[in-house]
Amino acid sequence: MTRPDSPTRTTAAEATDPHFETIAVRTQVPRTAEREHSVPLFLTSSFVFDSAEHARALFADEVEGNVYSRYANPNTDEFVHKLCALEGAEDGIATASGMAAVFTALASRLSAGDHVLASRALFGSTHQILTRILPKWGVTWSYADATNPESWTSQITPATRLLFVETPSNPGLELVDLKWLGTLARERGIPLVVDNCFATPYLQRPLAWGASLVVHSATKFIDGQGRTLGGAIVGDKAMVADARYFARHTGPALSPFNAWTLSKSLETLAVRMDRHCANALALATHFEGHPALDSVRYPFLPSHPQYALAKQQMQAGGGIVVLVLRGGIERCRGFLDALQLCSHSPNLGDTRTIVTHPTSTTHSKLTEAERQQVGIVPGLVRISVGLEHVGDVIADLEQALDRSRELS
Ligand SMILES: *Cc1c(COP(=O)(O)O)cnc(C)c1O
Repeated sequence: MTRPDSPTRTTAAEATDPHFETIAVRTQVPRTAEREHSVPLFLTSSFVFDSAEHARALFADEVEGNVYSRYANPNTDEFVHKLCALEGAEDGIATASGMAAVFTALASRLSAGDHVLASRALFGSTHQILTRILPKWGVTWSYADATNPESWTSQITPATRLLFVETPSNPGLELVDLKWLGTLARERGIPLVVDNCFATPYLQRPLAWGASLVVHSATKFIDGQGRTLGGAIVGDKAMVADARYFARHTGPALSPFNAWTLSKSLETLAVRMDRHCANALALATHFEGHPALDSVRYPFLPSHPQYALAKQQMQAGGGIVVLVLRGGIERCRGFLDALQLCSHSPNLGDTRTIVTHPTSTTHSKLTEAERQQVGIVPGLVRISVGLEHVGDVIADLEQALDRSRELS
């Protein structure tokens, strides 16, 4: 490919110490001969070789270059380079979904006989991978209480090969002390993998606290507009190399179109997250102490049990608020059916405010006891606070709470 006006990749990070927003907007693949301003979509499954020698050298890993879009593509490269720069990562790969990222990060690393120690509050499908899928290949797991250091140190065994956490957790908004766990992981020589989906690199950078890998569901705040599935693994070069080998041969590749969308989305991540966080804090503050609620949970509310930790490791509280309705599941059903503006949907991190009832949907595969352990009580609803005017969102939730009394 001829790239006359920009022989090398334009990575803003290589310039004079640019800020997050600048990196997000200005990291681009080199221009083509057409001199386009916005990056085009490389909707191609493969690439042509310059010569027989070039083809041989590419497959022998002697030169770098595009071969086949299951391995890499300019659009997926751009998305990953940008995300790496934002997370402060050495290297990364893009995947078709967040779960492809989680599974690839685990499976590329683990063998029969290995043990994973994870925080007990995990995304529903991650819980299924650890407890039902990986055990089929002889990998064992145990869960630690995120808030109790003793529960981590006492459960590390000689077979423990990975620590895996989600912080803040979905949907309970439990935090893990990344500085403490990152230090423990480094001391013990056991890599820490962090699902950074709720915070995004704009609010929290786990690699700086000692994590070895960050996994993302780009479907959520990174896309931010409810259009696209996607995921990524970024971090330590050697671990990413293992993940790349695994993904190259097992095929959870991100499509170039989705990568193109996600790379564009990252350009607006900072401004969107600022508003998501401001709206979420306003909403949480409004509903705290509401007579129809047992509790309100949000990392940047002083009433959150880990408020000090949230302030230490996050730039802001994120876009997710948890409300626990009085009257349990019946009241929740009435509430969901009374919503007029907010969407009732399983997704999160969208411009549109989304309300989800984990007990009956995303976490319904857990046993009652498993849900109790991570604080998912029947009355809990997760609000992914969107970018509408927050006054309109609050008004809709208020009227739905009101009407839920009659409907339940
Ligand atoms: C949604 C989500 C995932 C899974 O991502 P998909 O893109 O839906 O596969 C993983 N972790 C967390 C915390 C999530 O919210």
